[in-house]
Amino acid sequence: MSGAPLLRLERISKSYGGTPAVQDLSLDIPANEFFALLGPSGCGKTTLMRLIAGFETPDTGRILLDGIDITHLPPHLRPVNMMFQSYALFPHMSVEQNIAFGLKQEGCARQEVVARVADMLRLVQMADLGKRRPDQLSGGQRQRVALARALIKRPKLLLLDEPLAALDRKLRHDTQFELMQAQRETGTSFVVVTHDQDEAMVMAHRMAVMRSGSIDQIGSPREVYEEPQTRHVAGFVGETNFFDGRVMQYMPGGVEIETTKGLRLEAACRHHPAIGARVTISIRPEHLRLSAPGVFSTNGGIGEIVDHVFREGLSSFRVRLETGDIVHVRQGQGEGVHDWARGARVFVSFAPERARALVV
Ligand code: ATP
Repeated sequence: MSGAPLLRLERISKSYGGTPAVQDLSLDIPANEFFALLGPSGCGKTTLMRLIAGFETPDTGRILLDGIDITHLPPHLRPVNMMFQSYALFPHMSVEQNIAFGLKQEGCARQEVVARVADMLRLVQMADLGKRRPDQLSGGQRQRVALARALIKRPKLLLLDEPLAALDRKLRHDTQFELMQAQRETGTSFVVVTHDQDEAMVMAHRMAVMRSGSIDQIGSPREVYEEPQTRHVAGFVGETNFFDGRVMQYMPGGVEIETTKGLRLEAACRHHPAIGARVTISIRPEHLRLSAPGVFSTNGGIGEIVDHVFREGLSSFRVRLETGDIVHVRQGQGEGVHDWARGARVFVSFAPERARALVV
């Protein structure tokens, strides 16, 4: 990988009738990366994709591809392709003809078209189905044809808008791995828009979590999950428990807060909030511990088990604390794990280094 990014967005803004959709956004994507854009509905994901593809022009800022300014280049002159959610296959054409379409339009020699279509059919594991029409395919197969058609022109960058949204749960799961394989084999950078944080966590090398037209955080799925920088990111990526409060004192590597409900809790903190500042502690369900209430119970609160669900080897508990807070606790099976019954009194606690105090 060279030092310069494949794609560089420099301080991009885009408004529609005075309402900002993307605000002063900068982003670098290297070659050969699987990148996911994640965020709630209306946060600007599709607008950003359309700006990169060239269907929209930014009001301010620049878009560079391989160091070349493409901000005002029309879509068909960009080495970028976009795969739409609807797949937009031609219904009267065979799979092969659908895949070949872009190359033929470019005037590519017949022999080369045939060879590259065969390569693409192999890549998406559709070698036996080239003669079928789209209405003779399953949803998953149509998705693969759309992917092959988007990749045949060997774009440097492929934009995928909710590529798995039309598939059922099981098929989505399998298709995730096929997309990852296609990205690896072609070396094309993929930028995927998704609502589904699990999907982004599985597929992406890096992800950006957006909010209101800008990026809150960029990082590997693990970084974003384990080191969320904002309350929005902590809540959007994975499940978490929040405790709102104010900073009471500094502790080694963190802070002690008093929650709005009167609990004293300590958590790691990467920021430097003032004493008295409002912060939120985020603690993942798997980092909460349950124990019998006792004299040495610290960094937590007493509560009662409200629900207990066992699924896929994990016990999930909902606990109502005496403060009224409801927390979610997840435990694996193993030594020291107790099967708490509904109604049991428990102490819910956590190690400060497992939790993050986030400035709000
Ligand atoms: P979703 O996940 O629901 O698809 P999104 O994150 O892709 O949402 P965008 O479609 O980029 O969000 O929209 C960002 C904001 O810009 C929204 O407030 C939307 O209403 C607005 N917007 C998008 N396209 C247009 C348009 N053509 N004209 C006016 N407003 C628009």
